[in-house]
Amino acid sequence: MTTAAERDSLTLPRGHDKLLLHSCCAPCSGEVMEALHVSGIDYAIFFYNPNIHPKKEYLLRKEENVRFAEQHGIEFIDADYDTDNWFARAKGMEYEPERGVRCTMCFDMRFERTALYAHEHGYSLISSSLGISRWKNMAQINDCGHRAAAPYDGMAYWDYNWRKKGGSQRMIEISKRERFYQQEYCGCVYSLRDSNLHRKAQGRDLIQIGVQYYGDEGE
Ligand code: SF4
Repeated sequence: MTTAAERDSLTLPRGHDKLLLHSCCAPCSGEVMEALHVSGIDYAIFFYNPNIHPKKEYLLRKEENVRFAEQHGIEFIDADYDTDNWFARAKGMEYEPERGVRCTMCFDMRFERTALYAHEHGYSLISSSLGISRWKNMAQINDCGHRAAAPYDGMAYWDYNWRKKGGSQRMIEISKRERFYQQEYCGCVYSLRDSNLHRKAQGRDLIQIGVQYYGDEGE
């Protein structure tokens, strides 16, 4: 593990003493978790990602995250896999591009549930590992996070930039060190379809679920 001396010590925003961290997957949350851990911050993982399709991929991503949370002695809250609700909300957005309105809906849905759980379980601060990925639009994610927290008195979304000060690089290093499962598409069935169409156009092999791990040859 990276030691505290190699990172800035994080402090939670004023008025908050613990954090509910929405996690999308182990590779994205690995660096975030270690940064919180070495800073002595009290937090729990909230895994709510009904967007991930198919279930095999969902379980692979979740189990990697459970393994890493157990390694650090961090509480892992395994929320619903209510795919019907996700598909209902995605209706009419099947052909939207990544970073568009379907993704706003997808972040909203996941953060709304995170904020509700936080409200019901004594957390006043939420955040997410989603923003660490360079494939994502951080401003879009932060907007969704703030919107989810707004209905609850005293609740805030912590829009800390997990990419900065070497965060993005450590994310890859930790993923390789832990040999995390390496997903090859964002998560939903539409991102799987579009990633495969892109690969096909480039003459590349289609995505194979459950095959690639960080640190494998060629990664
Ligand atoms: S591309 Fe990713 S963020 Fe966008 S809707 Fe699909 S799973 Fe959600």
